[in-house]
Amino acid sequence: MTLQTITLIEVISETVSIMVGTVVFFLVQRLIPGFGFLLQRRALRFILAAVLFFLAAQILALVETVFAPATSLTVTLLEDFAEVFVIVLAALAAVILYRSERQDIASLRRAADLDELTALSSRAFFRRAAKRRLTLSQENGLPLACIVLDIDDFKAYNDEFGHEAGDRALVCVARAMQDLARADDHTARQGGEEFVVLMNGSLQDAVTVAERIRLRVEEACSPGRDEGLLRQITVSLGVARLSDKANTLEGLLNAADQEMYRAKRAGKNRAFAAGQE
Ligand code: GH3
Ligand code: MG
Ligand code: MG
Repeated sequence: MTLQTITLIEVISETVSIMVGTVVFFLVQRLIPGFGFLLQRRALRFILAAVLFFLAAQILALVETVFAPATSLTVTLLEDFAEVFVIVLAALAAVILYRSERQDIASLRRAADLDELTALSSRAFFRRAAKRRLTLSQENGLPLACIVLDIDDFKAYNDEFGHEAGDRALVCVARAMQDLARADDHTARQGGEEFVVLMNGSLQDAVTVAERIRLRVEEACSPGRDEGLLRQITVSLGVARLSDKANTLEGLLNAADQEMYRAKRAGKNRAFAAGQE
């Protein structure tokens, strides 16, 4: 076998393998759902450009084989240049894919940490943050208090005005809470129509904040102040502080919950605190 034939076979087998590889790549990303991200358009353009440069390099290698040695030097240079380009483009595509995947992961993480409707912290994020805060408070002997808030007669509101109107009321209450929150307060949506605030401070500090929230909701979440609301919204709140009795997150939330239910039983639209009559 001549050197020319060997080179020819090499060029053909290389071309066939890269074409088969490209086809397999597209089939895999179509058939396996998780590979969909490979369709990222910018990366795909670089991959296609790399394939084209590879083909160009192969054509040049073919020309070199057939017409050697006359065109040899120029063609070899061009061919090498095209090959270097293939590597650069493929590397760029890999970088783009890597970065877009990291962005996807970061935005998924952000979405999981925030409540979609109110943009307050989600329950899961609150629990993680609150546990750390509890440990810190216990280790340093700092006062920590918790306010649990529940919208009054919300089922009736939903039944009368619809779920969408109910959602607007949730947003209004969340905004009122957020407006009053200090930088180190942690305000979250616990789920449904229940919210929570974790704050540094004594029981009395938290009672003051709870009463402020109650008044703010009464003022801001009324049909006169918020066009989206069709009836006055009020809330009941329960307050508890970190103590020997309530020394875990569950314990603290339960204690505040008990007070919130006490406020409901006492006629709603009020704030009650553990140990207060
Ligand atoms: P109470 O004053 O005793 O708290 O009575 P309530 O009607 O507020 O309490 P209940 O627990 O019976 O009703 C809660 C309602 O909250 C039930 C459900 O229709 C509504 N709800 C929960 N999550 C959402 C939500 O994301 N959007 C809307 N619009 N409504 C919700
Ligand atoms: Mg409720
Ligand atoms: Mg309720």
